[in-house]
Amino acid sequence: MAYKIAVASGKGGTGKTSVSVNLYHYLAQQVSEKVQLVDCDVEEPDDILFFKEAQKEHEENFYQLIPEIDTGKCTFCSKCAEYCEFNAIVILPPAGFAEVNKRLCHSCGACLVACPEEAIHEKKEAIGTISCFRTAIGNGIVEGKLKIGSAMQSMLVKAAKKSISQQNDLVIYDAPPGTSCTVVQTVSDVDYVILVTEPTLFGLHDLKIMVDLVQELKKPYGVVINKTGFGCTLIHNYLATENIELLGEIPFLKEYASNYANGELFNHIPHAIENSFQAFITNIDRKILQYEGDNYFKW
Ligand code: SF4
Ligand code: SF4
Repeated sequence: MAYKIAVASGKGGTGKTSVSVNLYHYLAQQVSEKVQLVDCDVEEPDDILFFKEAQKEHEENFYQLIPEIDTGKCTFCSKCAEYCEFNAIVILPPAGFAEVNKRLCHSCGACLVACPEEAIHEKKEAIGTISCFRTAIGNGIVEGKLKIGSAMQSMLVKAAKKSISQQNDLVIYDAPPGTSCTVVQTVSDVDYVILVTEPTLFGLHDLKIMVDLVQELKKPYGVVINKTGFGCTLIHNYLATENIELLGEIPFLKEYASNYANGELFNHIPHAIENSFQAFITNIDRKILQYEGDNYFKW
C-alpha cells in the first residue's frame, strides 16, 4: 500500500502548491519513481503549470446523480424529505410543490427508496473532470477540476483520489486551502500531513485552526514555514510551546518569487531555497522510512 502525504494550509497563499509540486519532483528523483501527485484543490487546480513537459493522457467527465420528482405522480406525502439527511428536498403539499435542491443533495439515493409512488428518478449531471497527466519523472499528476457552479467539491476530491495508480509507493495530495469538508475529505486517509504556513499573525491564526483539525482527525503532522527571514518568531514560538515538529523552513527570496510566478520548480532557483528544501525532504524521507521499517511498504 502506498504511503500517503497531504500538503495542507489553513489559508491560501502560504506556498502549499510550491511545497506539493517540489515534494513530488524531489521524491520522484530521490526516493521512488513510483510517486503520484493528486491536485485536490478542485476549484483552482494549478499544480500542472509547474510541469511544462506534462502530457494529458486521459480526461473523464465526472457525474453526480440528482433525483428529480415527477409532480404528476407525487402525492406530496413528504416521505422522501423525511429520509433525506441533507435537507435537500422541499415538499409543500398545499402548493403542490416538490423539488430537490441539487446543491445540498449528496446523491445517496435514499429518497428513491423512500418514495412509495415511484415518483422519483435520477438524472446525470456533470460536476467536473478528472484528468491524468504524464510527467518526465514520477507516475504523473491526477487533477480534479470542478465545473463552474457545482458545489460538489468533496465528491470530486473523492473521485480524484480513486483515480490514482495502484503501482504507487508514495502519493501526495495537494489539499485545498482552508479547513472545509473538502480538506477533511482530502486528509481523511493519509498517513502524514504537512502543514504549510507563513511567519505572520494571520499565518499563525490559520495554522492553529489546521492543527486543531489534524489533531481531531488523529493524523501525525509537522509544519513547514515558508517565506522566512523577516525576523518574525510567532510561528517558531507557537511550535516550541505546543511541542509541534518543525519539518523545515523555506526562506523568502525575491528571485524565487519571480521564478515562482513563471511556474519554476525549486531546482531552477537560488541554492538557498533548494538547500532548505533538501533538508526538509530528508526529514520527510525519514518519516517514510519509519513506515518502511514497519513493513508498511517496500521499494
Ligand atoms: S439522493 Fe439523498 S441527499 Fe439527494 S435528495 Fe435524495 S435523499 Fe437527499
Ligand atoms: S415520497 Fe414520493 S410521493 Fe411522497 S412526496 Fe416524495 S416524491 Fe412525492
